[in-house]
Amino acid sequence: MPVFGAIEAGGTKFRCAVGTAPDGLLAQAAFPTSSPAETLADVISFFEGARATFGQMAAVGVGSFGPLDLDPASPTHGSIVRTPKPGWSDFNLKAALITSLGCKVAIDTDVNASGLAESVLGAGKGLPSLAYITVGTGIGGGLIQQGRALHGFTHPEMGHIRPRRAPGDTFAGICPYHGDCLEGLASGAAVFQRSGRHLAETPPDDPLWTWLADYIGQICSMLLLTAAPHRIVLGGGVMSSNSALFGPVRQAVSTQLAGYLGNLALNEIIVPPALGDMSGLIGGLLLAKAV
Ligand code: ZN
Repeated sequence: MPVFGAIEAGGTKFRCAVGTAPDGLLAQAAFPTSSPAETLADVISFFEGARATFGQMAAVGVGSFGPLDLDPASPTHGSIVRTPKPGWSDFNLKAALITSLGCKVAIDTDVNASGLAESVLGAGKGLPSLAYITVGTGIGGGLIQQGRALHGFTHPEMGHIRPRRAPGDTFAGICPYHGDCLEGLASGAAVFQRSGRHLAETPPDDPLWTWLADYIGQICSMLLLTAAPHRIVLGGGVMSSNSALFGPVRQAVSTQLAGYLGNLALNEIIVPPALGDMSGLIGGLLLAKAV
């Protein structure tokens, strides 16, 4: 039975796994994200050990932080582009892995990998389409249709849409490109920049809760109006640490849509991940199997 590899390449850690099926992991490990050379040495060491035990991998699938160059015609296809992480800008992660591991490598964004996993085996199982949004240190999203992530000339960057201002919110925003885009206003980093507190430490009567529900609701409303996904999975640390946000987000979406899409069962449409923190690795295995 062929063995596949998966990598969840995050800004703070790289998780690696091998398995024969997305729901059948044989081994996994995690390493801190440092320089590309140090991190890749850890990753390659893990896969060499796995190869000795389980045999050569047929392919490795990677869900990575980005932005990424995913244009198949680009000479730098598979590179991480314009990241503030030292050493990683223009680093070709896919090419480095192909050279080191000697097998095929598939790469996509972290949110597309997680979305793929949730669509095929998680909260969207059995449904034709799903959107995955992560609200963590940053905000990102992907759209999955019929088991494939949507790509245009690049991958979606929906965390950088410009929401309508929540009444009373005068925070300038922290996005270095846009200031008060969605990520600039509502990411975990933005929440912390506003008050020096994480959302979970913010009093329940603080208007920030309402503002965040409004902003996260706006990307859900935009998705429902543009792509009409059957599910919207809200993942990431801000959502997992503050499940009390789901109700206000659904309420905000209901208000924003104003009945235009009919009587949507938003408590079934806007949901937490079903695969917990395993969606990235499971998505990596799905990418590897499809390569
Ligand atoms: Zn932005």
